[in-house]
Amino acid sequence: MFVMHGGAGTITRKSMTPEAEKQYRDGMEQALRAGYAVLQKGGTSIDAVEAGIRILEDNPLFNAGKGAVFTHEGKNELDAAIMDGKTMKAGSVAGVTIIRNPISAARAVMEKSKHVMMVGRGAELFATKMGLEIVDPSYFWTEKRWKALQQQLVEEQKGKPVASVPVPDDHKFGTVGAVALDKEGNLAAGTSTGGITNKMYGRVGDAPIIGAGTYAANDSVAVSATGAGEYFIRWTVAYDIAALVKYKGLSVQQAADEVVNKKLKAIPEAEGGVIALDRQGNFATPFNSEGMYRGWIGADGVPHVEIYKD
Ligand code: ASP
Repeated sequence: MFVMHGGAGTITRKSMTPEAEKQYRDGMEQALRAGYAVLQKGGTSIDAVEAGIRILEDNPLFNAGKGAVFTHEGKNELDAAIMDGKTMKAGSVAGVTIIRNPISAARAVMEKSKHVMMVGRGAELFATKMGLEIVDPSYFWTEKRWKALQQQLVEEQKGKPVASVPVPDDHKFGTVGAVALDKEGNLAAGTSTGGITNKMYGRVGDAPIIGAGTYAANDSVAVSATGAGEYFIRWTVAYDIAALVKYKGLSVQQAADEVVNKKLKAIPEAEGGVIALDRQGNFATPFNSEGMYRGWIGADGVPHVEIYKD
């Protein structure tokens, strides 16, 4: 079983043209197929997560890799994490600006370093040494995200609180994530993001923080989150869901709902959602925002993609 999200936010039918919707659906389907193909061939859940996320990192529609949002200074600073539920190994990178596929850098940290998390220049040096593809920072530039930043800067100057500023493409968030269950019964999770438009230099979100935006353990569930990172960090969202499954015996659906639709929903700013998957292949995709790009592919080999609330 392979489940992905492509970000949560103010995504409504009204705000989406049929052409745009098709592009998002096609992008999600392509990534779902890529991840599932790995699993079908007997590949590991880690391989599937990396394969699916790389596709969306390369797709400019999504806020990860190419198409990432801009910082206040007009830079793209990327975060990503991956975790192996079998070994409890994890790797993450934060604030990187020249690594084409941050999810692969996170994997390299997990497998080829003695550490879990590397940031900025050090992470970039390591990725370069590991032979990962390095690009000029301008590779990540897209007009849509640049305009979104410009609009926020204008609103900010007018003195409006930034949190209330709508982003033109109604795609306030847009992180990508994947959770997978392989034939051996092992879980894995991964998340990759450009963060949040107009973030401060050096700001790190929940995605690369193990237990916040990303978590996988074979004794409970695999989780990848998307949303207002500051809240997902403080509420330890991914691990909280795993803990509810592990210690309270909740189903994956109950646990994910409890955290997303009760705990986080009680905080107006804590907008977002998660994908969560257990070892039986049960999964949940709750979100408390207006929409979340999400999809899954299982035994029938057909990708299912949903975007809106209903
Ligand atoms: N959670 C991400 C962050 O705060 C943003 C997102 O999900 O779109 O960096």
